[in-house]
Amino acid sequence: MKKTVLLTLAIAAVLPLGAQVIVKGSIEGVPRQGSYHPTFKSDGAKKKPLNVILMIGDGTGLAQIASGYFANNNQLTVMNLKHLGLVTTRSATDFTTDSAASGTAYACGIKTYNYAVGVDLSKEPAPNIPEIVAAKGIVSGVVSTDALDGATPASFFAHQPNRGMANEIWADLPGSCLSFFAAGDKERMESRPDSTQKAIRDVFTVVDRLDDPRAATASRLGYLPTKVEAGYIVDGRTDFLPVSARYAMDFLKSHSARKKGFFLMVEGARIDKACHANQFESMVKEMLDFDKAIAEAIKFADEDGNTLVIISADHETGGLTIAEGNPARGEAAGNYIYTWHSAIPVPLFAYGPHAQDFIGVQGNEEVGQKIIDLLAGK
Ligand SMILES: [Zn+2]
Repeated sequence: MKKTVLLTLAIAAVLPLGAQVIVKGSIEGVPRQGSYHPTFKSDGAKKKPLNVILMIGDGTGLAQIASGYFANNNQLTVMNLKHLGLVTTRSATDFTTDSAASGTAYACGIKTYNYAVGVDLSKEPAPNIPEIVAAKGIVSGVVSTDALDGATPASFFAHQPNRGMANEIWADLPGSCLSFFAAGDKERMESRPDSTQKAIRDVFTVVDRLDDPRAATASRLGYLPTKVEAGYIVDGRTDFLPVSARYAMDFLKSHSARKKGFFLMVEGARIDKACHANQFESMVKEMLDFDKAIAEAIKFADEDGNTLVIISADHETGGLTIAEGNPARGEAAGNYIYTWHSAIPVPLFAYGPHAQDFIGVQGNEEVGQKIIDLLAGK
């Protein structure tokens, strides 16, 4: 991985300004994982949903989704959905957003500056969905393959002027409106100041395994596995994302007071990270894993009948396109032209009651506003 990055940098250094370096990648022999075919019984229903699950594929543009689709023999659960839209992602200050500004757009329904976590252009805290819906008795959670203080999950519980302020972001956790979190990682929390760790443990039961008996009786639960268990699939992560996502749905459903409903954000974070490194094979594995989590959400929505699932991205990463493929043999090949985010609009897929509200072209902050209206509006 480092070799490719270094080679890219070396080539970039000798090219005239503005010239693009194309980095090729491919994957083959992908084991088929199939896809879940929804019942569509609740899809597009006019009643307001009780629960909303927002799934953010970090850095996940159409090419990332299609790479997983082709490599998996033309199958992905997300590709079985029928309500589709596009999301424009620019931030208030930059044509190309970062994950913090876009995460805040989804979480708070506002455009803000790059690096902002849950704060507006004046660096003032902006209310996030978990805070807004808590007044209605709705409980919230976040699940991510990133560190919990990563920009996307942090946008749903913290208010800090810069995404790099990890200690301050962790310190916002006890005062947040989350009832559940699962993200990276145990070691990362244990490197915070003792006072922060104590404040978090005063509010949340924190476990490093979901079969810890304390998880079953927790009123507010945090799941922080080891660094490897929450790291890249190519480095040894197994089923952390789909398992935590499903656990979160069941936990939040059983913990919502008087069945008032829940809001859950699930992030496939390492699609973005793999694309920053132009690692196509790693990206496809992360995409297929994200689709397993999507399948869990769609299955839950079918069982529950009152759950809206929205799947989109904060931005595309890498300027990826697909060059070649052979779906029957589990092969796909792609070309990257950047190691950063692009500004191209990202796809949105919606399933369940009011999925129809999310078709067409919309800003990322409008998606956040629509969720707020559905859960907390009159
Ligand atoms: Zn990124």
